Amino acid sequence: MRTRDEIECWLTDMDGVLVHENQALPGAAELLQQWTDAGTPFLVLTNNSIFTPRDLSARLRSSGLNVPEERIWTSALATADFLKQQSPGGTAFVIGEVGLTTALHEAGFIMTETNPDYVVVGETRNYSFEAITKAIRLLLKGARFIVTNPDATGPSAEGPMPATGAIAALITKATGMEPYVVGKPNPMMFRSAMNRIGAHSENTGMIGDRMDTDIVAGIEAGLHTVLVLTGISDDSEIARYPFRPDEILDGVHQLLAREPIESDQI
Ligand SMILES: [Mg+2]
Repeated sequence: MRTRDEIECWLTDMDGVLVHENQALPGAAELLQQWTDAGTPFLVLTNNSIFTPRDLSARLRSSGLNVPEERIWTSALATADFLKQQSPGGTAFVIGEVGLTTALHEAGFIMTETNPDYVVVGETRNYSFEAITKAIRLLLKGARFIVTNPDATGPSAEGPMPATGAIAALITKATGMEPYVVGKPNPMMFRSAMNRIGAHSENTGMIGDRMDTDIVAGIEAGLHTVLVLTGISDDSEIARYPFRPDEILDGVHQLLAREPIESDQI
């Protein structure tokens, strides 16, 4: 079996692993520094498609974490990467925010309301009945249905909020059409992330806090999987799943290299 020592590249989830409610988790800043100092290729992954990598980098910085924008991989970037391969120079009608529209623009897509190749739905806090109606009619006329991530709710300080999966369900109900969903737990999100940093599954690890997304997708992508208990999984929850991660840790602080013991202390 592959051990952690053989891992040369890392993918890590963001919420519940590095940060929780805008607070850096113990060891997160040190682990990012350790990877940076060692020249270890890594990417910080999030299913959140609202923000651009630059926005997320700034938000992480305000939490005390130094992650350059090129080290961030969102479900919006993974979706744009997928659509660029499927239909270079294609067209899309988009329900989403700047994280998604920017990613699609940079991938060479044209936004249109007239016979688009795709209807792409990402996370937004500004739902419009008019836009939903437009999306439904375009799908019924033959556009293909793509969704950035399946999450039904997202966290906020006041409690859960409806997220991409919930609005996609509304469109599915109205059209009878199921979307293709790019973000976790689709392992494609990890494969495109690995391509981005030139990593290979044999020597890449994935750190996550959810069995039903991070860990299952990590296993399916052939990665070394590390579950941290700083997020929502706990021991009783882990036992319910038919698969297990390679490692279960209390938090990312347990991934820090130990300081070598100086000889005069022995
Ligand atoms: Mg998480």
